[in-house]
Amino acid sequence: MFTLVDMNSASTHAYDHARSTPPRALATEAVHAGRDDLARQGLHAPPIDLSTTYPSYDSRGEAARIDAFATDGAEPEGPPIYGRLGNPTVARFETALARLEGTESAVAFASGMAALSAVLLVRASLGLRHVVAVRPLYGCSDQLLTAGLLGSEVTWVDPAGVADALRPDTGLVLVESPANPTLAELDLRALAHACGSVPLLADNTFATPVLQRPVEQGARLVLHSATKYLGGHGDVMAGVVACDEEFAGRLRQVRFATGGILHPLAGYLLLRGLSTLPIRIRAASETAAELVRRLTADPRVARVHYPRIGGAMIAFEIHGDPHAVIADVRLITPAVSLGSVDTLIQHPASISHRIVPEPARHGAGVSDRLLRMSVGLEDIEDLWTDLNEALGRTPRGTKMPALSTRGV
Ligand SMILES: *Cc1c(COP(=O)(O)O)cnc(C)c1O
Repeated sequence: MFTLVDMNSASTHAYDHARSTPPRALATEAVHAGRDDLARQGLHAPPIDLSTTYPSYDSRGEAARIDAFATDGAEPEGPPIYGRLGNPTVARFETALARLEGTESAVAFASGMAALSAVLLVRASLGLRHVVAVRPLYGCSDQLLTAGLLGSEVTWVDPAGVADALRPDTGLVLVESPANPTLAELDLRALAHACGSVPLLADNTFATPVLQRPVEQGARLVLHSATKYLGGHGDVMAGVVACDEEFAGRLRQVRFATGGILHPLAGYLLLRGLSTLPIRIRAASETAAELVRRLTADPRVARVHYPRIGGAMIAFEIHGDPHAVIADVRLITPAVSLGSVDTLIQHPASISHRIVPEPARHGAGVSDRLLRMSVGLEDIEDLWTDLNEALGRTPRGTKMPALSTRGV
């Protein structure tokens, strides 16, 4: 029943939109996008459709729709066919995220890494296996490219070297801004220009569309580890690519063929997470900015990294032993990942970027004394009390003997 309800909704939505919906602000889209058809159907919470398959007495019709999907990967019109081809609950999240990023479409996957893999496979299927990338990237993204697990070949460059590194078989330019874990920012507009006709993929996990919409600066593809801020509560793993409908079609075909789909319950949780995304990001960013002010003035801290566009991520290098800080936090959670309601801290050289070879890690500015913190929604004074205590047990000027052997 919910499926039929969802099927009828597309036309109603289009009609309503044409008739009465003015352009909407981001905060409004966050709450309403992907849900515009619900009220007219007497529904408030979006239905969760757990079907893996969908009965149909019209196999000629299904054959035609499967043929159409094989041609351009457009979402099949009419009722769904099979769970790996598309799911109405997941489609609501995709619609909402596309609205927030200002793209035609979005395609959701089981994780951020599944989403990046699908992008690489789309390009490799066209014979475009060469990737140009700027470090630092998230550790596993770096590893996926460095190891060439999907048959790709990577050239690492400085931002200014992108244009010169392009080859006839270059299929993708991959960047993060602000980057994980140093929060280094790139000029996306200049990079998009340097890419020419090669698609620029900007990993927007750290900024979210609340702080930055890379497509407006010329990126063709926007990647999210939706596990982080989009979900926002540390209880759902997902990835998504926001892009034009042509590329989205290719991504859906790869998703169908390789199976990295998002579970409908995860789609529901992500749609719910999006509705509070703007207020979560704004509140956590305010706290982060104040923590940055205090850390910058603190003699125990050697250097603080915080992007110009703001955000809830902080990175800082300390004079003392970063392992001691991790061991001594009590309120702050010592854990990898980010973007949850609670504050997390981790040591990139030990965890998130452990897999990146040490010379490359150091070359990208990921020092052994760097700590990365994802600021949550706790009270600023409680956070500072905890951080101050944890830093306090790290005497100023302490040497870090044999840090690298203590790594893991
Ligand atoms: C976590 C992360 C990823 C990978 O996402 P998963 O959901 O863990 O697969 C990719 N990019 C960035 C910037 C990340 O922080």
